[in-house]
Amino acid sequence: MTKLQNPFWKRKSLSEMSPEEWEALCDGCGLCCLHKLEDADTGDISYTDVACRLLNIQTCRCKNYEKRKKLVPDCVILKPEYVDQFKWLPETCAYRLISENKELYSWHHLISGDRETIHKIGVSVINKAISERDAGDLEDHIISLKEFSHG
Ligand code: SF4
Ligand code: SF4
Repeated sequence: MTKLQNPFWKRKSLSEMSPEEWEALCDGCGLCCLHKLEDADTGDISYTDVACRLLNIQTCRCKNYEKRKKLVPDCVILKPEYVDQFKWLPETCAYRLISENKELYSWHHLISGDRETIHKIGVSVINKAISERDAGDLEDHIISLKEFSHG
């Protein structure tokens, strides 16, 4: 069986992946970099279309990935040991999918071979997120993740 038929995300658990494989799994959707609101009573998470100040909303990339935690203390750095806390991630997130033994979507760059596919079909926050600077009240910016859920 070739590596293509049996790629690393199918052969390995999240905790077995190398740092390079772990990083490669991220689809670059930018959804986790949107501000979220948590219901104090139910714990339910609502996503907004307001991006973290460090997200480049034209490219969907963090402007300072290496120093992100220092610059934005609220930034959540995903780690395989916290997999049981991944429920707040969008259902399309590759880390969540793999942690739930699900397949990556056809638009994921590891399947399509192109990191632009996700942006072309509108599953990423490009052209959808707005900057913190222009946002005002977060409650006015709650969105449904359904618009990011093309299969
Ligand atoms: S939601 Fe998941 S796949 Fe998308 S950018 Fe965040 S970590 Fe990467
Ligand atoms: S600091 Fe970077 S990685 Fe963290 S939420 Fe902001 S844009 Fe995303």
